[in-house]
Amino acid sequence: MNEEIVEIEEDQEQLQYLSAELVDSIEPKDIITDVNALSERREIQEMNDEDITITSAELFRTLVEAGGLGLATTQIGNPYRACIVNVKEPLVLINPRVVKFGTVDENENNGKRVIYRESCLSIPKTMKKPKKTVRFTHVTVQTDNLGVVEFKPDNTNWRSQQDMYEDEGLLESIVVQHEINHLDGILITDPKIRYNKQVTVNKTGRNEKVMVMNPENQEISYMKYKHAQPLLELGYEIV
Ligand SMILES: [Zn+2]
Repeated sequence: MNEEIVEIEEDQEQLQYLSAELVDSIEPKDIITDVNALSERREIQEMNDEDITITSAELFRTLVEAGGLGLATTQIGNPYRACIVNVKEPLVLINPRVVKFGTVDENENNGKRVIYRESCLSIPKTMKKPKKTVRFTHVTVQTDNLGVVEFKPDNTNWRSQQDMYEDEGLLESIVVQHEINHLDGILITDPKIRYNKQVTVNKTGRNEKVMVMNPENQEISYMKYKHAQPLLELGYEIV
């Protein structure tokens, strides 16, 4: 990829193009919970400045009202492909698409996965009882308004599950993955995202690939079962 990676500064005030008057003038939208409507994809399409401003204001206003960490246009019946993520600061992503699960720099800890817990404003029961999901730690996203942005953990040397859940960079990366999934019509209940303990040790062949979780930091790696065996004795689990 030739395009330069954009560093998002925390004090950059990404949404400065939204005036307080505009945001106040917008009624919060109802959040869609209908599964058929939520399964519709939002395709990339050109947005002019006014489309961007109104869509951003709708996302921002509705998210503030609902009190979540992110929201996608699919959830409010807006036809464009855009989402808002509000973890470190509010960020609107216009026409976001995943370039890579991982970072552009191959030397960083790329392509790792974690088991996380997620709630979704469109699936109200998950607000009380979050769903276990499997997510990438790093994601590189192309957007029309911010260029190419990497979302990644602030730190990956978590010593405990609590350290992992307190990592804001990781949370932001996971919310971005969650919202882009919405734009592709995918929910956290989808088998591709949902954590599922399917592989049983007894049925696994030696050369079959398994997902193994490090009990200390919940990190997941894929490997052949014969390579996982010694780790299982150290307390690693097949997930
Ligand atoms: Zn959601």
